[in-house]
Parts: sequence; C-alpha cells; structure tokens
Amino acid sequence: METILFRDTAEDISAAAELIKNGEVVGIPTETVYGLGADACNEKAVKAVFAAKGRPADNPLIVHIADFSQASLYTASVPALAYKLAERFCPGPLTMVLPKNEKIPMITSGGLDTVGIRVPSHPVMHSIIERSGCPIAAPSANISGLPSPTCAEHVMEDMNGRIAAVLDGGKSEFGVESTVISLDGDESVRILRPGAVTKEMLLEVCRNVIIDPAILRELKDGERAVSPGMKYKHYSPKADVVMVEGELDDFKNFISQNNGDGVYSLIFDGDEAEFPYRYFTYGADSSEQAHWLFQRLRELDEIGAEKVYVRAPLKDGIGLAVYNRLIRAAGFEVIRI
Ligand code: AMP
Ligand code: MG
Repeated sequence: METILFRDTAEDISAAAELIKNGEVVGIPTETVYGLGADACNEKAVKAVFAAKGRPADNPLIVHIADFSQASLYTASVPALAYKLAERFCPGPLTMVLPKNEKIPMITSGGLDTVGIRVPSHPVMHSIIERSGCPIAAPSANISGLPSPTCAEHVMEDMNGRIAAVLDGGKSEFGVESTVISLDGDESVRILRPGAVTKEMLLEVCRNVIIDPAILRELKDGERAVSPGMKYKHYSPKADVVMVEGELDDFKNFISQNNGDGVYSLIFDGDEAEFPYRYFTYGADSSEQAHWLFQRLRELDEIGAEKVYVRAPLKDGIGLAVYNRLIRAAGFEVIRI
C-alpha cells in the first residue's frame, strides 16, 4: 500500500482521524515518541498494528483517550488513587495499568485482563482522538526491536508501505516512551517502565513508589515479567551496543584500548574536547539525552557503525528512563570501569 504523508493542518488531522475511525493504521505524533495508532476496540485494526510492527502478540498496547474521565468507559474500576494521579499528570507521559472491561478486546491487551490507559498532551494526537471518536491503541511506531521513532521521517523509514498514513507533527518533545505504572492499594504505585514522570514526581501524590527491579537488570530464568515488554530485546540499532559506566577519563582510556574499524562512541555533550576517536554526542543532561537518544541510535546505523560504546547516563530523574532504554539496547551488556 502507498503510505500518505500528512502535515499538521486541520484538514490532514481530520483525514488521519477518519482513516483511524475506518479501521486503518496511522503513524501519529505524541509528546513521548511517535505511535502507530488504531481504533483500540476494532480487533482487525489492532491486528494490523501488531502485523506492521512485527510485535509479539503477548505485548499489550497502551490505549490513549482524550480525557481521563473516559477511563471508566474501558475499565472495570478506577481507584481513587488513579483519579488523584490523573489530576496531577494527565494529560502527559503517564500510563496507568487498570483492570480492563469487555470493550477492550483481548488482542489489544495482549491477553491480559488489564489495560494501560494514557491521556496524551500532544495537541495533534488529542485532536485525532477527539475527531476519530475512538480510544486509540498506539504502540511506538518502530519495527519491533528497533529504536523508537521521534520524528515522522523515522516512522516512514520503518513503516513506509506497511500502513495507511503518517502525520508529521514535528519532533517528539520528550523522546522516550511514557512512564508505565501499576497501582497497589490507595497509596502505592509500582513503576514498570520509567519515563518523564519520575519517581520523585509520583511521590508528590503517592506515599510509596516501587521501582520494579526488572527496569535495571535482565529477568532471571523463569522469572515472570510484570510488564510483558520487559521480556523483549528493544530499542536496538543494527550495531552492537555496549554500555560503559565510568568517569570520562576512564571512558577515554577504555576507548583507546578498544578502538577499531566501525567503532563509535556515544558520549555526553561537553565530553568531546580532546576526544580523538569517532563519536556522536547525545546531550549534556538527562532531558537532552532522552530527547536525542533514539535519533542518535538510528544515525549510528545510517553511518554503518558496527560497535557502539555508550557512556552510561546518570540514573536520576528522567535519566532512569534513558538508562533503562540503553541497557536494553545493549542487551544488558555493561562494562563497569
Ligand atoms: P510501547 O507500546 O512500545 O510503548 O510499549 C508499551 C509498554 O507498556 C510495553 O512494555 C508493555 O509491556 C507495557 N504495557 C502495556 N499495557 C500493559 C499492561 N496492561 N500491563 C503491563 N504492562 C503493560
Ligand atoms: Mg515500543
């Protein structure tokens, strides 16, 4: 099929919404990363999303709604804590896992009896949801396993010919996917995937925030994933990525001993003075690193990098999300010096 490229005009936004309403799949901008949007209640449309991505059938899709008041339409119950969290964080990059009702087909929830609900803040995404009149299931718009797309060109690279259209709404603001949480009683939440809504921010609303240990390490043999996405290799370019944890001088020393054809470093902005090896930078602080990370991983592929040594980011704030994506891109290969 030919993939139409829409711009963010009222006319094109309506056309994208109309396609989704009619069961088609459209690449759509959000404030986190680009999504592959389809009517969450239309089994055939959702099936086409899984097929376009090559996504394992047990990895559930997040359902996007225009306002959190609509969460009760698709869930069996919405606890008081969810409303409190929504008041502070919706619209925005927070996904809450709640018990689903029969309106959400099993294919959308990857066979689980829960559904991840999010209210995106991106104005284009918001209009598309409102105009289509359906809740929109939207995983990241990359081929499964590749880095997530943060602009329309990335979506075209992966999806051209596989989906009906892509809407170009500019570069994604945050650059990493939403924070996914489950709720535990009236006061506690568990972070299943870190994002721009950080532990510190959640603690403004909840008494207790648990960071699931699988965020920072590989699942052990036989260990059950609380979030199916934890099981899969993710965010990886073609190059072999290795994370290197250490001070800049140690990192330089390490590269001097491990340099060779096709080897690139991914370092912080500010590290590049007297760095006599091939490198890309991915930002000076955690927010910038979140914003640039996936684009840099794609650029490293374009340039034909074979091995990429990444200087490990700090794990504070949104840095935990950057670290989590990188450790998965590296298939958990970390060198500590
Ligand atoms: P993506 O669609 O690429 O943004 O990935 C969505 C992530 O959210 C995956 O890691 C899923 O496993 C996770 N997720 C979505 N829905 C649920 C759910 N109902 N329970 C647990 N994790 C979920
Ligand atoms: Mg994804």
